[in-house]
Amino acid sequence: MQVTNKRITDKPTRPRRAVASSETARAINRDILLHAIHLHQPVSRADLARLTGLQPSTVSVIIGQLIDEGWVLPGTLGRLPRGRRPTFVTLNDRHVTLAIDLRPGRANLAVVDINGKLLGRDTVPYEIKAGSMADEARTAIAHIAQAAHALKAAFKDRAFQGLGVSVSGRVDQKTHRLLFSPNVPWGQIDLHEELQRVLETPIEMENAANACLISERWFGNFYDASNMLVVSVSEGIGTGMLVDGSVVRGRNDMAGEFGHMTINPDGELCRCGNRGCLELSGSFMKALELASRLHRRPIDIGQLVALAKSGDVGAARLIADTATQAGRGLAMIGAALNPPLFVIAGRGALAGDLIMAPLIAAYERHTLIRRDDVPDAMRPNFVVGRFTENDSLMGAVGLVLRHHGRLR
Ligand SMILES: [Zn+2]
Repeated sequence: MQVTNKRITDKPTRPRRAVASSETARAINRDILLHAIHLHQPVSRADLARLTGLQPSTVSVIIGQLIDEGWVLPGTLGRLPRGRRPTFVTLNDRHVTLAIDLRPGRANLAVVDINGKLLGRDTVPYEIKAGSMADEARTAIAHIAQAAHALKAAFKDRAFQGLGVSVSGRVDQKTHRLLFSPNVPWGQIDLHEELQRVLETPIEMENAANACLISERWFGNFYDASNMLVVSVSEGIGTGMLVDGSVVRGRNDMAGEFGHMTINPDGELCRCGNRGCLELSGSFMKALELASRLHRRPIDIGQLVALAKSGDVGAARLIADTATQAGRGLAMIGAALNPPLFVIAGRGALAGDLIMAPLIAAYERHTLIRRDDVPDAMRPNFVVGRFTENDSLMGAVGLVLRHHGRLR
């Protein structure tokens, strides 16, 4: 159980509530209390009031509601030297979410409880690629639905609170349309509607990087952060941005496509149709292509990292080159937004120091922080994400929590 809440933020304060209506304020207070229980459980109401700064009466009312709804369990009696023995509360881990992460080549499915514990999982591979026919996409969705129903059946003693789907591509949160997904095969169908139809339940669907940002805040150490960027580095580059307390979405939820900034106008053709995008050199796409050619077999990120860690100089070099290009790209984002924190997520983060050291070095080389007259406050923290392997899956869980008013 995690009991510390390390703060790497500009302002270690509770969420901004200046413009909250009473209903929003209530939702935010529920969110704050659930997160405090998540961090400190088992915990008493009095300690929750102290930890959150909320009025004890407010804490009691909201905890009562959460117990009635089944999110929180009244637990064991605490022990004090004298006086009343307080009741400790915990999150109800019978509440679970089905999470689906749709990525190029396969879908990862998992049942995850409210504490973030992964209870069961499955993977459904598919051959289809971008530009596949609608029927092929529907067949793949049908296979995913089969696996989803089997997982739900295996945990039928639990209370399913919803279904979250993370997908590489941008999802308009009003229309649920998948707007930009050059790497995945869902362009020919209405993905959201098709999934709801075959899974027979409402779903929450969101871009993988935004989902990742949500999960890093809920399950990670950054709940209090008001400015942070989650950068997922794998076969592509995805960014989830939290600026001044809000997720930056832009028009039609299309903001954050830094992977498609032009780095080299004369470079190779990108899947988006432009040339020389950051994603071509700053993601593992190129490195995997080169490594696969060299080893005469398909090499994925996990294998490349394993090779590098076992002393393969070529593999380490490919990772370092990728990291350097990514760091250069992040320097542009840093110049624009000056976030205090970059969380590096995605499978690329499995490389640990092999990716972080060259990435940070490149970032520092290309930003103002190397100048003597620029304050040190412009130097961001770089940390490896909590879920390098399962970040989008955990993000899908975060989507469901967000839907229930648990997350901003
Ligand atoms: Zn591109």
